[in-house]
Amino acid sequence: DSQKYTGIVEDCCCDYETVDSLNGAVLHPLLQELVTTPFFRYFKVKLWCDCPFWPDDGMCKLRDCSVCECPENEFPETFKKPMQRILSSDDLKCQEGKPKAAVDRTLDSKAFRGWIEVDNPWTNDDETDNSEMTYVNLQLNPERYTGYTGPSARRIWDAVYSENCPKYTSGEICQEKRVLYKLISGLHSSISIHIASEYLLDEAKNLWGRNLELMHDRVLRYPDRVQNLYFTFMFVLRAVTKAADYLEQAEYDTGNVEEDLKAQSLMRQLLYNPKLRAACPLPFDEAKLWQGQSGPELKQEIQKNFRNISALMDCVGCEKCRLWGKLQVLGLGTALKILFSVDSKNHPYQPLQLQRNEVIALVNLLNRLSESVKFVHEIASVEKTMERFT
Ligand code: FAD
Repeated sequence: DSQKYTGIVEDCCCDYETVDSLNGAVLHPLLQELVTTPFFRYFKVKLWCDCPFWPDDGMCKLRDCSVCECPENEFPETFKKPMQRILSSDDLKCQEGKPKAAVDRTLDSKAFRGWIEVDNPWTNDDETDNSEMTYVNLQLNPERYTGYTGPSARRIWDAVYSENCPKYTSGEICQEKRVLYKLISGLHSSISIHIASEYLLDEAKNLWGRNLELMHDRVLRYPDRVQNLYFTFMFVLRAVTKAADYLEQAEYDTGNVEEDLKAQSLMRQLLYNPKLRAACPLPFDEAKLWQGQSGPELKQEIQKNFRNISALMDCVGCEKCRLWGKLQVLGLGTALKILFSVDSKNHPYQPLQLQRNEVIALVNLLNRLSESVKFVHEIASVEKTMERFT
């Protein structure tokens, strides 16, 4: 398998070896730390959503499906008194099983100052609508196996692929549609890898661990799924580095001075990393897209397709899967917005504007992709070593 991942990542500008070494040495360690900072670990999300396509089927089998929200004492209180030392590890106890905590919906005006409210044309949820939004501590709700499977889950993926981005065979569809397909397939690979890497091996003993067979069956034995994962990683990385000036100047203010400075410093190390800039200065070249005559129409069409994919996340019948589905689709939508909605050639003065939640989604998505790429690389390396001895 390891032989299949050499050379340039299809449609990207860097090769697999470079991506793996950059990820291992630079990106993965930085991102792992960044997502634990208070700014990046709280995600605002609408979890109780009406699916516009089918009635709710509540298909989840396990308790692990449910999300524990941020209780008021964990999150809002600290931001009401910004200068205090915040969030001891005691504050981070999961409130699972307790009645749903009331959430202070005026929080956005009290904390996270300096961020604008702006809707994302690539996603279905109106990001400026705070009603019904709640805050989730992502560190307490890891993406992993939940037992969500069967026709309900299959229906979502089928709809995502067949209604919104029909499978491509090389040369049959335009490059832009192929990009959309690859982004979805890459995200799907990443979700499957996370399921397999934190799997409930023995329900009675509550034993969790890696399920390598599942990882093989769902991802590794399909070279295109691995390629799409690398592609998606490079695409999102390009969006982050393209928005470097904006992201560097953004406010990571949650009231916890020490942690906020750490977030800012880690962000700078990510955005202006000399190793990254030297080895892979342009992870994806967005300037190659939308060049034909039908460019603007095509963009509208693909934007509509992606909004449909975003709406489908409201139909995911397991709360934790829905949380990560929504976060990652918003992250992809943000990457698409950064790369394609600000047309610096024709509108040089149209500034990029991002919502805080979009930035949180973008960075957490990049971290998830980075974890998946690391898993794949580790397994490929082990296989390579074993091949040498057999
Ligand atoms: P599925 O993963 O459901 O795949 C369905 C079909 O899609 C496959 O048969 C194949 O034809 C095609 N396919 C699969 N992978 C790819 C790819 N990378 N590229 C192109 N085509 C592909 N379950 C959890 O346990 N935890 C979660 O956090 C979780 N999050 C989810 C989030 C979303 C948005 C969705 C829709 C589902 C989520 N699920 C989660 C369910 C999980 O993704 C699977 O659907 C479930 O485990 C059943 O898997 P499966 O083997 O039937 O194949």
